[in-house]
Amino acid sequence: MVYRFVWILILGLSLSTGHANEAGSEYLGNEGVMVSHGKWKVLFDTFYLDGMNLYALVAPQTRAQLMAGERPYDGVDAIFVSHIHDDHFNASETLAYLRSQPDVSLFAPKQVVDALSQSINSDDPLTERMVGFELRPGDAAQSISRGGILVEAVNIPHAGGERMAQISNLAFRVTLGKWPTVLHLGDAGVDGAYFESLQPHWDARLTDIAFPPYWFFLQEEGHKVLSQKIQALQTIGIHVPASAAGNGASWRQKARGDLYTDPGERRNIPYRNKKTP
Ligand SMILES: [Zn+2]
Ligand SMILES: [Zn+2]
Repeated sequence: MVYRFVWILILGLSLSTGHANEAGSEYLGNEGVMVSHGKWKVLFDTFYLDGMNLYALVAPQTRAQLMAGERPYDGVDAIFVSHIHDDHFNASETLAYLRSQPDVSLFAPKQVVDALSQSINSDDPLTERMVGFELRPGDAAQSISRGGILVEAVNIPHAGGERMAQISNLAFRVTLGKWPTVLHLGDAGVDGAYFESLQPHWDARLTDIAFPPYWFFLQEEGHKVLSQKIQALQTIGIHVPASAAGNGASWRQKARGDLYTDPGERRNIPYRNKKTP
């Protein structure tokens, strides 16, 4: 009888703390976001230094905490770079971070890894922590699993058409343990037919949270890609001009969707219930 009571007590405790390990995302600036769940933490497009006079930079204090590995930016497992543009990536900043945080892996297009490799010796142990994906538009997804994190990448052509054809822009879909699955689209262009050609990829895994550039919200085709192709449970637009800071509500209303506008903003990632397909 006592044992049964203890068992019920333990069951009750585990049910009540079942959501204590909440997953969430934090906006750092431009397309920089951190996603965390329990012991897992990953960063997307965080180590850049150029806002092109239009986009928010990572706040100086946040940047210092990141570099020092201070809470809440401690224990990061992996960083992702969508593409080589200066408002997403800076080689020396990225190398400085990888040197200061010896347990962090980097996942990026080969174009980005090549740029980083120019500044380091080929026998530098750092090279073992850098994974470069060579993916062209239309290529099947490539995936790799490291330390309980599943990384799946596809190439999605950069917005701007032919002018941007030389830029390798990757959409990383990252699963932290069993949950959640996060999709970062970099500077993907809105092309319904292209997203449709990747439908088996979108259908292969449920996305809990997608981060598209905010221009997806400015046209009907973008809304359709998000709601009919990607079908994430939660979608937050990024790459919003810095001038939107403090004005998030009206930007979100105009966009007819959720956006990150103010660095430091956070959202919880809703827990999948059993009815979720
Ligand atoms: Zn770009
Ligand atoms: Zn950009």
